[in-house]
Amino acid sequence: MNKSIGTLFIISAPSGAGKTSLVKALIETTGDVCVSVSHTTRPQRPGEQDGVNYHFVSVEQFQQMLNQSAFLESANVFGNYYGTSQQWVEQQLTNGIDVILEIDWQGAQQVRELLPDAMSIFILPPSKAALQDRLEKRGQDDDGVINKRMAAAVDEMTHHVEYDYLVVNDDFDQALQQLQAIVIASRQQLTKQQMRHQQLLTELLS
Ligand code: GDP
Ligand code: ADP
Ligand code: 5GP
Repeated sequence: MNKSIGTLFIISAPSGAGKTSLVKALIETTGDVCVSVSHTTRPQRPGEQDGVNYHFVSVEQFQQMLNQSAFLESANVFGNYYGTSQQWVEQQLTNGIDVILEIDWQGAQQVRELLPDAMSIFILPPSKAALQDRLEKRGQDDDGVINKRMAAAVDEMTHHVEYDYLVVNDDFDQALQQLQAIVIASRQQLTKQQMRHQQLLTELLS
C-alpha cells in the first residue's frame, strides 16, 4: 500500500471491553473516520445486520477470499474466522479518510508488519468483574460463549504492550474523549501534514 493521508487505526480489546460501542460513538462525533466492516464466519447475533456489523460468510466463501488474497489480515478468534478487506481499506485511506480496524492482537501484528505507520490502541476494562458484567448485560452470547471469552480475555490483554496507546474504558465519555484526542493528534503528524499542505509549505518556505 502506498503512503496515504488517511491514518489507519487498529483497536483491540478483550470481548466486552466496549470497543464496538466506543468506535460507534467516535464515528458519530468525529468527521472523516470510518470503521472497516470485517468478514466473519461467526453466526449472526440477534440485531446484527449483514454488511453493517459484519459481512457474514460461510467457511467456503472465507477460504475463497483468502486464496484470492482479498484480506489485509485474517485470524481465527474463538474458533471463527475473521478478516479485513484489503481493497476497501486501501480505497478509504487513499481518499484521505481515517480507517479503524476493530481486530484482535493476531490481526494487529499482521497489519503492523504491512503498514508500520498504523496507530494502535488497546482498550482495557476497569476490572475483570466489569468485563464479565458487560458480557452478561450485552445479552447476546450464551454462558458457554461468555466463559470462553472470559478465559481468552487475559491472553488477549497480555498483548497490550504491543500497542501505541492504552485506554481504560471505565467512564464511557472519558474513554471516548481520550480516543478522540488520539485520532485528532494523529492527523497532525508531520508526514500527513506535509502531504496535506504541500502548497502552503512551498509558499511559506520560498
Ligand atoms: P466482540 O469483541 O465481543 O464484539 O466480539 P466479535 O465477535 O465482534 O469479535 C471477536 C474477535 O474478533 C475480536 O477480538 C475482534 O477484535 C476480532 N475481529 C473482528 N473482526 C476482525 C477482523 O477483521 N480481523 C481480525 N483479525 N480480527 C477481528
Ligand atoms: P466489545 O465490542 O469490546 O465486545 P461492546 O461495545 O459490545 O464491547 O460493549 C459490551 C457491553 O458493555 C455493551 O452492552 C456496552 O453497552 C457496555 N459498555 C461499554 N462501555 C461501557 C462503560 N464504560 N460502562 C458500562 N458499560 C459499558
Ligand atoms: P465478536 O464475534 O464478538 O464480534 O468479535 C470477537 C473478536 O473478534 C473481537 O475481539 C474482535 O476484535 C475480533 N475481530 C472482529 N473482526 C475481526 C477481523 O476482521 N480480524 C481480526 N483479526 N479480528 C477480528
